[in-house]
Amino acid sequence: MPEMHEALDAAHRLAVEWLDSLPTRRVPPTATTDEVAAALGDLPDHPRPALEVIELLGAAAEPGLTAIPSGRWYGMVMGGTLPAALAADWLTSAWDQNSALRAVTPATIAVEEVADRWLLDLLGLPADCGVGMATGATMSNFTCLATARDTVLRRAGWNAKELGLVGSPGVRVLVGAERHDSIDKVLRFLGLGHPEEVAADEQGRIRVPALAEALSKGEGRPTIVVLQAGNVHSGAFDDFAEAVPVAHDAGAWVHVDGAFGLFAAASPELRHLTAGFEFADSWATDAHKTLNVPYDCGIAIVKDDAAMRASMGMHGDYLIQDSAGEPFDRVPEMSRRARATTVWAALATLGRSGVADLVERFYRHARMFADGISKIPGGEVLNDVVFSQVCASFGSDEHTREVVQRMLADGTAWTTGSRWHGRAVLRVALCNWSTTDADVEATLAALREAAA
Ligand SMILES: *Cc1c(COP(=O)(O)O)cnc(C)c1O
Repeated sequence: MPEMHEALDAAHRLAVEWLDSLPTRRVPPTATTDEVAAALGDLPDHPRPALEVIELLGAAAEPGLTAIPSGRWYGMVMGGTLPAALAADWLTSAWDQNSALRAVTPATIAVEEVADRWLLDLLGLPADCGVGMATGATMSNFTCLATARDTVLRRAGWNAKELGLVGSPGVRVLVGAERHDSIDKVLRFLGLGHPEEVAADEQGRIRVPALAEALSKGEGRPTIVVLQAGNVHSGAFDDFAEAVPVAHDAGAWVHVDGAFGLFAAASPELRHLTAGFEFADSWATDAHKTLNVPYDCGIAIVKDDAAMRASMGMHGDYLIQDSAGEPFDRVPEMSRRARATTVWAALATLGRSGVADLVERFYRHARMFADGISKIPGGEVLNDVVFSQVCASFGSDEHTREVVQRMLADGTAWTTGSRWHGRAVLRVALCNWSTTDADVEATLAALREAAA
């Protein structure tokens, strides 16, 4: 297969050139979307060799690439890619296993089942939970909340699977005022409409007395409570030890959105942030954030595996289904990339202590940022730095926004602007395995310059 070899050799060379450029290249891209689109050219009239196509793709894309996998990307919450996870991802594409059914793709499903077991062990969650790997935390939240919806309605005597939602007793969904917006999006998909907001405290944590009061007004209606492990602005964790029993006493299902924060549970130093989270009913997290595997990989975990399969499973007469449950019975998708290979590879290369070190390093670097920012004239850290997020102001909103703009223009690092509690802020999110002390120091130097 000379064409395959040539194309893969070129892809390998281009990939290594890109990765080698990361330590020194500017983080923002130099070409715009339209410029890259123009460089890709028109739809060709005739076939072209794979090698030529890959060379064209590499050359056209290069100036428009953003150095997200570099150690100086602190935007949104985006992880890098561990070497073992990236290499496993290449193999995953080459193997091309549609990982839905145990009898059809035993190798990749074995990898997935081992990864599921290791994840539950690492997070300290019950070993018999159902685990599904979807495209991200949004779809993992969807998976968990679909199961939650069906279960709370079933307990109220309503079979949503048969009857849908029209005429049902309805489902109340209570969320903290600072839940992630993907929760609202998912509730739209689920036909549950806008959630009821419960007040949050100054760090963005749900106020448990306010939650208890809202729950007391439920008149026994089916209820879901969504808690959060890791606020995108402050990194704060809801008080699970207090909130979960309050919600359970009212008969509610408790879901935890821990897209980047759930892995705090894998660190002896930071596990206290998640205290009591193991008593919830479902959890969503991302492997493509804190665990540093390539996109796209989210993880949905449900304590009641049978309920998860009842909500997400399907049957086809042409499928060879295993009574133990199939991976595609626990996620929205049917055809599935074997994305678990990357999770297995990340866990296998890091081991328990490596995952703990990774998470603790994010925390240590976040504190280095907070310390450095508070020493910049006008710099003020607005959150309690308990995990991986730092939210800062540089005086007036106008000045803070100007600092964000100057950081982008400088190109040393990527920090994002946002609004939090009515103020313009600059956010720093630590999520990349390759970030070093030197990266943090170089970024602080750029911030000092931008602020001045
Ligand atoms: C990133 C994030 C999500 C959404 O995750 P995707 O993987 O982008 O779908 C949900 N909740 C929180 C708290 C997040 O940080």
